[in-house]
Amino acid sequence: MIILLHLDAGPAQRAAVREALEGFGMSVSEVSLGARTALVTEGDGHPAASLARLPAVEQVIQTETPAPLAAATLAGGGRPVSVGTTLFSAETLTIVAGPCTIEDAGTLREIAGLVKQAGADALRGGAYKVRTSPHQFQGGGIEALQELRAVSRECGLPFFTELNDPRQVSAVADLVDGVQIGARHMQNFPLLTEAAKLGKPILLKRHMSADLDEFLLAAEYILDAGNEQVILCERGIKSAERHVRYLLDVGAVPWLKERVGLPVIVDPSHAAGHHRLVPALARAAVAAGADGLIIEVHPRPEETRCDALQALSPTTFAQLVTDVRRLAALTGRRAGKVASDGGAAETGASGDGPVLRTAAEA
Ligand code: PEP
Ligand code: MN
Repeated sequence: MIILLHLDAGPAQRAAVREALEGFGMSVSEVSLGARTALVTEGDGHPAASLARLPAVEQVIQTETPAPLAAATLAGGGRPVSVGTTLFSAETLTIVAGPCTIEDAGTLREIAGLVKQAGADALRGGAYKVRTSPHQFQGGGIEALQELRAVSRECGLPFFTELNDPRQVSAVADLVDGVQIGARHMQNFPLLTEAAKLGKPILLKRHMSADLDEFLLAAEYILDAGNEQVILCERGIKSAERHVRYLLDVGAVPWLKERVGLPVIVDPSHAAGHHRLVPALARAAVAAGADGLIIEVHPRPEETRCDALQALSPTTFAQLVTDVRRLAALTGRRAGKVASDGGAAETGASGDGPVLRTAAEA
């Protein structure tokens, strides 16, 4: 831990910091950083919160982390992730949208057109679903994935799809743009390692019962396998609350962004479990600094075999996109889809879609 002291801290205030550290059983050495002084500690204590309140302390920098490769991604301005011509970064708000599950090619094509028209930057759709009951629809497998790829190429939006078994990886290697690792597989370490080896972006969802260190350690497996294209996704955790499906941990967004340079996005659909809550949670996520959103959309949710209650209608999704783009523009963020000319992205291939304004224009 490194404790940076205020320039104008007097001797008594400085001594109070040293005494506090020694009281926690830590050994302390003093280093000069130009005109400033920092105290460098050794020891197992984690008194960061109480130290930060001492008048002499300007900043407490935690250097001990269980996930050193994840922490190292902060260096050099972070690790933006590109999937096709779509960018996830601290300068963009990148919206991934589509059905929970790929059910038929016609509906998929319809959804893709609608979310693109509304301003989505990438598609989502599950071919291998992770269902709580073995009696529920498990997804259409490789054929569904081929349909998603075809629709993605037709509409010009790259896509993410979920893998849940290391044995799927080689079969989909040439098909997928980005791999989603679902919440229930966050600690499926062989899957993380195998998927990482594809060298494609990995959208890693937090397990509903994982703490943030465990989440970072899961990302660490992907980084350790040599793949730095990791997007972290908060999707709600289990809590005492029964009126929402999961509790969206909005605080995880700034916490993670302070500690790692990987894009952090939010899934308000699975957190809410109900379409009426999704837009508000999406706005909260963007206000908290999320680099993107992943949202389930369906034109006729009553027809879908998976997650019907949380799917947004295309109209509600379009309004959500307008609202979150306005919020994002306040902090200078632009859309994640990069136009081939490198300028403001235009979503409609024929130019008839809504023009996404750059931060400067917004
Ligand atoms: C999904 O994205 O469809 C999904 C099942 O999400 P999660 O893994 O977060 O439950
Ligand atoms: Mn779903």
